[in-house]
Amino acid sequence: MQVESCSEAFVSAMDAEHAAVCEAQGRFLSLIAEADSSEVWIGSGARDMAHWVAMRYGISEWKARRWVEASQRLRNLPRIFAALAAGAMGIDKVVELTRFATPETEHRLLRWAQGVSSAAIRRRADIETRRSLADAEDVERSRRVAWWYFDEGRRFGLAAELPASQGAIGARAIKRLAGQVPSMPGEEGEFFADQRRADALVLLASRAGASDANLDRGTIIVHAKVEALVTGQGACEIEGGGVIHAETARRLLCSGRLQTVIEDYGGNPVRLGRTSRDPSPATMRVLRHRDGECRFPGCGARRFTNAHRIRWWSGGGPTDLDNLVLVCGYHHRLVHEYGWKLRREPDGVVSWFRPGGARYRAGPAPPRVATSP
Ligand SMILES: [Zn+2]
Ligand SMILES: [Zn+2]
Repeated sequence: MQVESCSEAFVSAMDAEHAAVCEAQGRFLSLIAEADSSEVWIGSGARDMAHWVAMRYGISEWKARRWVEASQRLRNLPRIFAALAAGAMGIDKVVELTRFATPETEHRLLRWAQGVSSAAIRRRADIETRRSLADAEDVERSRRVAWWYFDEGRRFGLAAELPASQGAIGARAIKRLAGQVPSMPGEEGEFFADQRRADALVLLASRAGASDANLDRGTIIVHAKVEALVTGQGACEIEGGGVIHAETARRLLCSGRLQTVIEDYGGNPVRLGRTSRDPSPATMRVLRHRDGECRFPGCGARRFTNAHRIRWWSGGGPTDLDNLVLVCGYHHRLVHEYGWKLRREPDGVVSWFRPGGARYRAGPAPPRVATSP
């Protein structure tokens, strides 16, 4: 008798804690939705909101993605949100329900969901979303890009029709780059935003072209001034047309994919061929083993990783392991083209610094430990 009442107390304590967890989870998802809408992840070293949540709170990117999607949909699903907040339905069921519930169906679906497993809800969500995938396919099918020359070949027209999600990627990239493109004299201010977007598009295309040629055709030849490579300032010329920033040339050199003709002030070649400081395949194997994944805190990327050379040759940076860090392509760009810095401590910890110089922390600050005066 005593045992029974003891276990009852135990279970009701667990129920109460679970309800509290659910309530907090509901508030947490609301905050995620707000943070997503105000794009807090921009400039934080993350690719998007889900990547940011995964890195900051140490949960899988798959789960983070589901939570971010659910957080947005819950804004229009008040009954499901209330069920979560009251502890009447757990987070896994709620996340699956939001994949297909609508304001019209949520009441009915909630009753059904109470009586089935979260796996059953997930199966139904898979089926329902597949059905709407057929609609999405139409949108996909009609995607197109066309261009034409006019005004006796002096002007170039370009038109595109894309699925909204892909269009948003393009729009965001152009918008972000347009914010960085310097204004031409007399074109300052918002009135000339169109012009800067046009510059940004060209820049984007040239960047992509440069890295594609690099990937597919093995070698691109870049004429670089010693000074540009040492300082990371200025431009380098791609043989056959095109210009890349010195910092981009440095990034490509880090991964040893570039053939360089390094020239002095007078344009005379001072060094030909691949830089002798490329990490050898043996060094790369050891590096991959040592670092395991991209060393941006919490990124976790294992594919498309490269060696980043911490100190550059100006500082006599040797190509030994102390001077190398494994990074993914995205975070490698942050270091070279977006002003991030990193440092490898003697104990192997890699510290990252934002463009302003502030130390980057992947998660929330650790709890304060009371120290005796
Ligand atoms: Zn690098
Ligand atoms: Zn990374």
